[in-house]
Amino acid sequence: MLSICQVGRRFPNGTEALRDATLRLNKADFIALLGPSGCGKSTLLRLIAGLDQPDGGHLAWDDRAPMAGDIGFVFQDATLLPWATAEDNVFLPLRLRGQSRGEAMPLVHQALARVGLQGFERSHPRQLSGGMRMRVSIARALVTRPRLLLMDEPFAALDEFTRNRLQEDLRLLWRSAGCTVVFVTHSIYEAAFLARRIVLMTPRPGRIEREIDSTLEDGPQRRLSAEYAALVADISRTMAEALR
Ligand code: ADP
Repeated sequence: MLSICQVGRRFPNGTEALRDATLRLNKADFIALLGPSGCGKSTLLRLIAGLDQPDGGHLAWDDRAPMAGDIGFVFQDATLLPWATAEDNVFLPLRLRGQSRGEAMPLVHQALARVGLQGFERSHPRQLSGGMRMRVSIARALVTRPRLLLMDEPFAALDEFTRNRLQEDLRLLWRSAGCTVVFVTHSIYEAAFLARRIVLMTPRPGRIEREIDSTLEDGPQRRLSAEYAALVADISRTMAEALR
């Protein structure tokens, strides 16, 4: 889908947020960008989204460059409009593209149902829990049927139980949606649970250190399996060596 070739980004204050980053995003892949704070994860995500430009290297899309609606973005904060219902929040990206309410509502309701929020269409953000607000935010990102879903630590502010549940549901969503997900996290457990490819990054300067492929099977035992524990151990060891 996208080739990222030796991309660098240095900010005007001299911070080298990213050096020589090379990565390939394939169709329907699930990639975790994993590393401690300041290793350039968000910078790389912003470059992929086209929200920022590299100073060196280049990004090459296989087909055409993405247009509005091809990329969905989910942030740590759900960033919902507080005065608008769940339905209206999810309608927003379609409204901005000129769709009428009547035309959009079936898609909006479908997106809310996919994240488990059937029956909450008319609720306001303040009436929803943190996990539910994040579900609305994910529905809003999915409603345009993006080819690429970019997620920047979306579950970091949630309690562990809610977070685990959302991770499980995100795996199912990803499988059914068929889009490519790039997921930024500083949690080894989260990266190991979610991703098919885990990209390890280190700071000062921000660099891609290594990629680890996951062969974990889906299923109710995923988080309890010996394979998951072994993957977590492998990532932890590699990361500790890289940071030494
Ligand atoms: P991460 O997402 O891994 O925490 P970031 O990509 O946010 O890392 O940041 C990488 C480095 O670049 C950090 O040292 C950060 O302080 C710095 N940085 C990020 N954005 C800017 C900016 N706009 N101007 C200057 N420095 C920045």
